[in-house]
Amino acid sequence: MEIRKIDSFDELLQEVKTYIVKEENIKIIRDAFEFADKMHKNQFRKSGEPYIVHILQVGFILAQLKTGPKTIAAGLLHDVIEDCDISKDEFVALFGEEIYTLVESVTKIGNLKFTDEKEYQANNHRKIMIAMAKDIRVILIKLVDRLHNMRTLQFMSIEKQKKISEETLGVYAPIAHRLGISEIKNELEDLSFYYLKKEQYYEIAKLVEMKKTERDSQVNSMINEISQLLSANNIQFRIFGRSKHLYSIYKKMTTKQKRFEEILDLLAIRIITKNDSACYEILGHIHAKYLPIPGRFKDYIAVPKVNLYRSLHTTIMNLGNIFEVQIRTEEMDMIAEKGIAAHWRYKENSGSKEVDQKQIEDQLAWFKEFSSMVGEVHDNALDYMNLMTNDIFEANVYVMSPKGKIVALSNGATPIDFAYRIHTEIGHKMVGATINGAICSINTPLKTGDVVEIKTSNNSNGPSEDWLKIVKTTNAKNKIRAYFQKIDNERKSLDVKKGEEMLKDEMIKRNIDVQQFFDTKKLEAIASSLGVSSYIDLMHVIANKTVSIINVLEKLTKQKVSVNKEDILKVYNRLENKKTSKTNARGIIVPGIDSVKITLSSCCSPIPSDEIVGYISKGMGIKVHRKDCSNIKNETTRLIPLQWDDEVNNQEFDVRLKIIANDRNHLLTDIVNTISQNKSSLAYVESKVNNEKLQVMIKLQVIVRGQEQLANLLSNLKKISSVKEVTRILN
Ligand code: MN
Repeated sequence: MEIRKIDSFDELLQEVKTYIVKEENIKIIRDAFEFADKMHKNQFRKSGEPYIVHILQVGFILAQLKTGPKTIAAGLLHDVIEDCDISKDEFVALFGEEIYTLVESVTKIGNLKFTDEKEYQANNHRKIMIAMAKDIRVILIKLVDRLHNMRTLQFMSIEKQKKISEETLGVYAPIAHRLGISEIKNELEDLSFYYLKKEQYYEIAKLVEMKKTERDSQVNSMINEISQLLSANNIQFRIFGRSKHLYSIYKKMTTKQKRFEEILDLLAIRIITKNDSACYEILGHIHAKYLPIPGRFKDYIAVPKVNLYRSLHTTIMNLGNIFEVQIRTEEMDMIAEKGIAAHWRYKENSGSKEVDQKQIEDQLAWFKEFSSMVGEVHDNALDYMNLMTNDIFEANVYVMSPKGKIVALSNGATPIDFAYRIHTEIGHKMVGATINGAICSINTPLKTGDVVEIKTSNNSNGPSEDWLKIVKTTNAKNKIRAYFQKIDNERKSLDVKKGEEMLKDEMIKRNIDVQQFFDTKKLEAIASSLGVSSYIDLMHVIANKTVSIINVLEKLTKQKVSVNKEDILKVYNRLENKKTSKTNARGIIVPGIDSVKITLSSCCSPIPSDEIVGYISKGMGIKVHRKDCSNIKNETTRLIPLQWDDEVNNQEFDVRLKIIANDRNHLLTDIVNTISQNKSSLAYVESKVNNEKLQVMIKLQVIVRGQEQLANLLSNLKKISSVKEVTRILN
């Protein structure tokens, strides 16, 4: 876009009249200017210029973009609400509701303040998006306002220059890119680049300047060759060289790690012609004469980019030079430069040119999709920023639905990402996909041009948690997480209800006053003493019977709750039927219970395959005894049958043994050797000699792995000469 500063409204009008003809439309613009001029009287910019200069310039750039009359009027009035004293009613009476809403939205965006905090910034950007998403004309006005502010940024403090440039590069330039307004995008990028990295800016500018003459002559001779070729074939065309803007060179050098020479070696030429078929014809002639570089040809005429961009791209070699060639029609060129603005004017200025409204709407599909995504994410501003950068600004893979809807996705995106982009429910009910008609796995990375069809089923089990590792877009990730969160919440709230009911029923059954004792605060404390993290989780374990209600009641009432045999039996039968059991640290299964502390009693030191029972101790947890332990002989009410886990054989257990033998030399050595040959280990030994009987009693503590090893050890110990008796000490 030609950068020109205008000094009068007449100059603006001249530009407007090149494409707006109706007198009533010109009047809207004139009225808006005269009103703005009056309102901004005696106001000045930081540059010292009258404020109306900024206003005129914004109007002029909007006219250069060929936007409609109401957009230009709103542009001229864009600072009136904020900076001048005017009520809504007055404004609406003068210019109508539509222009008022446009100006109000632009004003709201302007009111957002800068801050250093990352999250706040993200929030800021999000508000900008939401405000702009309501009407695309708001974006155009805001972009143009920002462009002129960037052009006059030298009057701001250095700190403000940096902040505004950062925001421009992070938010406004990508929006301009997405809307296809490359004229504005390139200028915003170069201006931000200048203020953010002056050193690099000057360095690249200098390099470009140094190479200019050489490059110009190479491009010019190529232009001559191609011109002759096309003229000889009677093709209408116009051809010119084009230069890359500085920031794009810088970005290529840093992100693709290329040397300046490599980037600058790419010489760029654009050919404009009359229609689609002429584009392909020109391409044919060029490929016939010059060597095209494989893999570099792109047909954006057949498959336009989401930002409406259409063109043919090819890269050819000639005499050691590499040329990037773009071939397109006038209309395509206008869309490439002015993007959505080029379409938008038809809508407002209808009558000046025939418009296929449907076509514009279809091509604006990206914008609609973007608006809906902006509406969907509510929770976290940073998430939102990720979504913007990942899914929108960096979306470079263009795929199609069977109906021809084009969707832009980030690199590496899969059919799952595609499904969630089309519709949340399609994602949730997805059971498979095809790419270009062939069945594919749902984690296949998609490529530009792929036609993707999603297979859904009402019987699908919903998304799998593995999908979270597969998907690339934040949009899909958020939707899958939300799905699981919802399921989890639903299940938990059902459990809470059920758990509360069970607890209250039990209280009523035991004549415990529910009103007095059912205390949520206390229950919360009990939850943490039982190792569950919250009240909700406590109700969950009660509902799932993985904690003893009696235990909870005792804690709640601080009284011993009598447990009758029937209850125990009930618990036991229920536990027996439960398949899901978790092995406790000591290899004991309390079927169905996994949140209870289990300890082995020291009195009888049970080891695997001993028959065991659990004693529900008063505090908490279960003590494990051998079934024949004398300490629990008289217990009737607090015992729970237990079993060893099958996998327990790899765990070590302490066993105490008593050996009676006739005393002799080296007896102890033989015993220790036997233990070690048995791959058990000795933890403790004590020997007592009974002089009267010439016998010795040796007490051992050994560590064994399971019953089988113990049995072997016992029988080997018995084989030692002079050993009379080997027994296990149980109590
Ligand atoms: Mn402004």
